[in-house]
Amino acid sequence: MSSFTIAKTILGGIYNQTLLASNSKLDKSTDYGHHNVGLSLAPNSSSGYDMCVGATPGCISNCIFSSGMGKFSTVQAARIWRTRWLVEDPDSFMMALVMSIVRAEAEAKRLGLKLAVRPNVFSDVKWEEKRIPMTSELMDWLDSYHIHPDKTNWPTIITLFPLIQFYDYTKLHSHDREIWEHNGHGNDGNYNLTFSASAENHEYNRRVIEYAVDYGYRIAMVATQDVSSNQLRDMWERPVIDGDQHDLRFLDEEEVLVRLKPKGFGKRDTTGFVFTPDSKWTPPRK
Ligand code: SF4
Repeated sequence: MSSFTIAKTILGGIYNQTLLASNSKLDKSTDYGHHNVGLSLAPNSSSGYDMCVGATPGCISNCIFSSGMGKFSTVQAARIWRTRWLVEDPDSFMMALVMSIVRAEAEAKRLGLKLAVRPNVFSDVKWEEKRIPMTSELMDWLDSYHIHPDKTNWPTIITLFPLIQFYDYTKLHSHDREIWEHNGHGNDGNYNLTFSASAENHEYNRRVIEYAVDYGYRIAMVATQDVSSNQLRDMWERPVIDGDQHDLRFLDEEEVLVRLKPKGFGKRDTTGFVFTPDSKWTPPRK
């Protein structure tokens, strides 16, 4: 069976034609003119494969993977299954993802909205490196949607759909992400990244955030309600915005701190991941 047939069969049989779904936060995007969908994989090593190599001990403990709909074992199992599919048969998975994006775009058009895709809802995969195999079956299928990629140069989802806005949060250093290097240290293309800080004294986290501070990138951080935004603004020396209003980070200015509320296990954090009035961690300075 070809990768294309596997992709079509699995999508049709299990996933109701799409790997992409919304959630309560992504749903808020409608008010901002976007139909927002994401790919939910299984974080860290919960599937047996590490999908978050930049994760810190605190973010692993607080990961919202198992809160909300993730409380249900069937939902967790589906995320694990998708992750194994991506790692064990990437060709058919990438084709299924392409089909899902085309379907989501059609839905966005039907709703009169722009499409925004977050491919890492619970993962930190470098999508700029994941190539889509251009087999003749997939080319013919894309042709029927008036999409004509270069067969000799396998695209990524980012390059195959240049008019769709992709975005993610990442804990990976820029040197590990081709997208930052190719954009010349910028968020100019259609894949927009926000650095995700943990309020832990963790060496890798510190280096990643130092980079974001040096180059003026957006940083997201979870802080408790009793930390005032003025305190965060003075600490970080940058404007603070409420990141829970919506998830469309690419609409935000670059050099801001995106403040997020603790959710799930984060409400009872003991690791230092969530910033509190007692946190000893201080952000790096330019
Ligand atoms: S990097 Fe993100 S998705 Fe991965 S374990 Fe940490 S919080 Fe969860």
